Amino acid sequence: MTVLEIRGQTGTSRVLIGERIDRLSSHLPGGQAIFITDRNVRRLYPALFSGIPTVEFPAGESAKSLETVAFIYGKLLELGADRSTFIVGVGGGVVSDLAGFAAATFLRGLGFGYASTTLLAQVDASVGGKTGVNFGGYKNMVGVFQQPRFVLCDPSFISTLPRGELLSGLAEVVKHAAIGSAALFETLEARSGEVLSLRPDLLEEIIAKSVAVKAAVVGRDEKEAGERRVLNFGHTLGHAFEARLGLSHGEAVSLGMVAAAELSVGRGLLPAEDAARLRALLGSLGLPTSVSFDRDAILDAVRKDKKRAGGGLKFVFLKGIGNAVVEDIPLGELEGHIHDLR
Ligand code: ADP
Ligand code: ZN
Repeated sequence: MTVLEIRGQTGTSRVLIGERIDRLSSHLPGGQAIFITDRNVRRLYPALFSGIPTVEFPAGESAKSLETVAFIYGKLLELGADRSTFIVGVGGGVVSDLAGFAAATFLRGLGFGYASTTLLAQVDASVGGKTGVNFGGYKNMVGVFQQPRFVLCDPSFISTLPRGELLSGLAEVVKHAAIGSAALFETLEARSGEVLSLRPDLLEEIIAKSVAVKAAVVGRDEKEAGERRVLNFGHTLGHAFEARLGLSHGEAVSLGMVAAAELSVGRGLLPAEDAARLRALLGSLGLPTSVSFDRDAILDAVRKDKKRAGGGLKFVFLKGIGNAVVEDIPLGELEGHIHDLR
């Protein structure tokens, strides 16, 4: 097992990578524990919840609403939750966002932890202390920063993940490697086949290295004042591809990273060989690297995103494998450089 500590202003989070789920109870403080999960996870792993008061809601992004939060508050009341109650979110990113937000706000804040069951949640969603829900058609509009006490990452959960969900997680793993760990990048290049066959020891290693990159970035910039922006690598165009091309988040981020690497080469920041390595790695993991699209529609989506963020458009470039920089990008440069990825 690898334990990584993330010290944030709202507390210290221990990420337990390779810890077995049957050891979950040893990480709970005394007192009442309430589990929060979604219907899929409960159906797949019923034994986990037997004898434990559990709040369950339908699976999927559409559950990430204030209505579900109100539903959870109601169940917590019914179950007699008090200030000593500890909440455990068991599931993917949607469950951790909801369970964390409900726990952080109910009675002005209950202790909580996560048992993360998707690769995406293990390497990304559960690490960093962001909680929240969608509102008014915008993602993650309402929420709070609050570190969970622990994030238990048992790689055996990944064996039941649908392939699309696995790929979404792998896209973020590649992102972490590209922005912060040449060593992780090389491991992925050398062992992509074994990664796809879900070798448990290898999964544990790549989750640990991936979380280490995110933890280091978040540790230096918990509330996204500056450096944390490097975690958006591949996401500026990725979000536009996701919204306009109907792709999954992972597919869209894969394409967004390919495009961002090309823009980095165009600026003279990145050697063309490194952009080619990124593209080859994504391809070997089964992620898409080419797409054709309507340039104006994509630029329009980027402009909308930019408006929401306010200020100039910040863009994450690569300067090498494992090395990212954030620089302003004039929309004109994007207009001039984005084109179909072939
Ligand atoms: P994320 O991809 O952000 O972690 P979700 O929390 O929505 O997003 O999880 C994605 C989907 O995978 C949901 O339908 C969820 O119920 C399901 N899921 C979560 N964990 C597992 C698992 N270990 N095996 C199979 N399906 C899972
Ligand atoms: Zn992402």
